[in-house]
Amino acid sequence: MKIYNTLSRSIEEFKPLIDNQVKMYTCGPTVYDRMHVGNLRTFVLSDVLERALKLEGFKVESVQNITDVDDKIIKRAIESKKDLKEIADEFTKYFIDDVNKLNINWNSENQPKVSDYIEKIANYVKVLQDKGFAYEKDGSVYFDISKFEDYGKLSGIKNVSLKTGTRVLSDEYTKDDVQDFALWKHVPEGELGSFESSLGWGRPGWHIECSVMSQDKLGDTIDIHLGGVDLIFPHHENEIAQSEAKTGKQFSRFFVHGAHMLVDGKKMSKSLKNFYTLDDIIAKGIEPLALRYLYFQTHWRQEMNFTWEALSASQNALNRLKRIVSKYDDPKIGCAELEEKFKTAVNNDLNMPQALAVAWETVNSDYPSSAKKRSLLNFDEMLGLGLNSV
Ligand SMILES: [Zn+2]
Repeated sequence: MKIYNTLSRSIEEFKPLIDNQVKMYTCGPTVYDRMHVGNLRTFVLSDVLERALKLEGFKVESVQNITDVDDKIIKRAIESKKDLKEIADEFTKYFIDDVNKLNINWNSENQPKVSDYIEKIANYVKVLQDKGFAYEKDGSVYFDISKFEDYGKLSGIKNVSLKTGTRVLSDEYTKDDVQDFALWKHVPEGELGSFESSLGWGRPGWHIECSVMSQDKLGDTIDIHLGGVDLIFPHHENEIAQSEAKTGKQFSRFFVHGAHMLVDGKKMSKSLKNFYTLDDIIAKGIEPLALRYLYFQTHWRQEMNFTWEALSASQNALNRLKRIVSKYDDPKIGCAELEEKFKTAVNNDLNMPQALAVAWETVNSDYPSSAKKRSLLNFDEMLGLGLNSV
């Protein structure tokens, strides 16, 4: 199997570090709002990669975190006069619901929450301090990027030394603001989002949580780390710095980043009112799996343009495919040649547009319908379009 690795900026042959055991971590949602169709595309990518690895015979251990302690959740809690947990629980429920509707096969046992990791995070931060990679300032603790030689290796940031020694407390910032970042933020006792820990009262920065949860659940080195391209900097760059500073070992061997999504050619935003959720899609009478089908029509590394016309065309195509499959004879032996072709597409950097084309090629082929049905149901192990549910 070949997949594009952001670390090397090239398509590489994938092999796990240990035998055929794949350890994979996907940055999960910050549960302060509904997920939009762009966020959901990344989670479908994670699901598809996991399915592809399993079909290749790998054993996959996959973890996705839930960020339930964060500046944005606190802001939302204050605005809506609710407590932090109430907001986080509400949007976690929505998220799980979306994931299920999109046939994303995640194991709910492997979704750690930040609120359950406060002390482990505090201990991790202390190790970084003891090793000289972090320092305290006004009760908060910062990572000293000048101490980590490889800083910038994922995002390609250069001249880091010019900007060290200044600090950023906010979790989100651009490449122009590359600075020492917060591992632990001091928050006075009693304030919303303040937790008691061995570092005193406060809460973890955003980046540290993924290093701690990933290494706690999957060990020092994982095979694949996945997220949207917007996470390359600063989030994943900072994760690498923290993790590798602590262990002295490589954090993740592969970084897989899903491309952005546009809506009608524009960036998605609440102010443009083009911020669509799965419920908006369902409200228009379209099935969630039609969205899954639509995702497959654009390669995961390409920017995708969402339009209602394209989604509606996907629904029609999916309906047609399901109708055709439902009329086929009972599945017998599949079409080996087409199954090989499908596998080649999937293993070639997860080329889902090509894989979908092979599914249609199968439909249009001269094989007996029992063979076509067998193959299409096999493809659906990967596609997850519910072709057997008609
Ligand atoms: Zn993360």
